[in-house]
Amino acid sequence: MTEKNIFDTVIVGSGPAGLTAAIYNLRSDLKTLVISGEQPGGQLTITTIVENYPGFPRGIGGMKLMMDTQEQVRNLGGEIRIGKVEKIQRQNPSKSPLSKGDFEIFMENGDKLISKAIIVTTGAQAKWLGLPKEQELIGHGISGCATCDGMFFRDKVVAVVGGGDVAATDAEFLTKFASKLYLIHRRDELRAQVPQQKKILNNPKIEFLWNSEVKEINPPKSPFDKGDLDNNKLHSILIKNNKTGEEKVLELDGLFVAIGHTPATKFVEGLVEMKESGQIITGKNGEYGTMTSIPGIFAAGDCVDDVYRQAIVAAGDGARAGLDAERWIGNQK
Ligand SMILES: Cc1cc2nc3c(=O)[nH]c(=O)nc-3n(C[C@H](O)[C@H](O)[C@H](O)COP(=O)(O)OP(=O)(O)OC[C@H]3O[C@@H](n4cnc5c(N)ncnc54)[C@H](O)[C@@H]3O)c2cc1C
Repeated sequence: MTEKNIFDTVIVGSGPAGLTAAIYNLRSDLKTLVISGEQPGGQLTITTIVENYPGFPRGIGGMKLMMDTQEQVRNLGGEIRIGKVEKIQRQNPSKSPLSKGDFEIFMENGDKLISKAIIVTTGAQAKWLGLPKEQELIGHGISGCATCDGMFFRDKVVAVVGGGDVAATDAEFLTKFASKLYLIHRRDELRAQVPQQKKILNNPKIEFLWNSEVKEINPPKSPFDKGDLDNNKLHSILIKNNKTGEEKVLELDGLFVAIGHTPATKFVEGLVEMKESGQIITGKNGEYGTMTSIPGIFAAGDCVDDVYRQAIVAAGDGARAGLDAERWIGNQK
């Protein structure tokens, strides 16, 4: 094992949580590596403008924010390595869980790294409908985050797809701005908890489209229209009633997809304690709020948090994990 693959902390993921953890570790003089994953900069890199991250009075492009944060990490002497982690294990699993644990990190390209501590910040991917044009129109009418983008739809017509807690909460939130909201759900009743259902079922701004599924985004407006991206902006969707087969076009300014998130935590399954939904459980050890069930492995951001899912929250959590890891390493000496 060469010196270049041995670290104090390895941070898995390069979104707001991972890069912030890196900033804290580097400023504590720890030899720190960030592994970027397939999406260097994380989820924010696919959005257009971020208006709720403090310090940017006119908002900032999601890509720019994350490229600047990567530059900040590099300016502090940190390395960001392109690649994906496949597996983590304790170097000597027979050691007591509370002993000083060096970890082995196996990369997809076959490389092996050793680190005293690991911070997992692999985020969660929003589930999308998987329809043509959907990805191109994210930030141009299509969104996976009502908290982030709701304000852009004041006095506009929007739809929310989904029937769980997130869809119901998003729908309630969006009616503060939208003039009309369609809630499109493929079943004939919501899965959301009853108190949340009550908040929206009698809301006069909401029209429920039960047993309905989105079949097409920006469908052709006439036989001569090829249904192209129409200046890269959402204008309508085609929905189909899965009971009656009836199809109809809804003219829309915004479409919010709220059908769930998948945490990118498969590679630590069976190693650290997780919720059924795949989020990593932290904070059971009172002394270190971001420590997982394995001492020396910390986790932060959307791979832990299934409630707030905001960049500033992930960054704050990353700062906590960086501080915890530094303190934990210090206490092992
Ligand atoms: C379209 C969109 C718009 C948004 N707009 C806003 C907004 O305006 N304001 C706001 O506050 N929030 C917004 N969010 C939410 C915000 O992006 C997330 O809350 C935040 O990015 C979470 O940060 P994170 O660091 O926890 O994870 P992520 O940003 O998801 O980063 C995860 C990182 O882990 C890496 N990774 C995954 N698996 C592996 C692996 N096995 N090995 C190595 N690396 C791995 C990925 O490549 C990525 O770099 C938006 C989200 C989306 C999808």
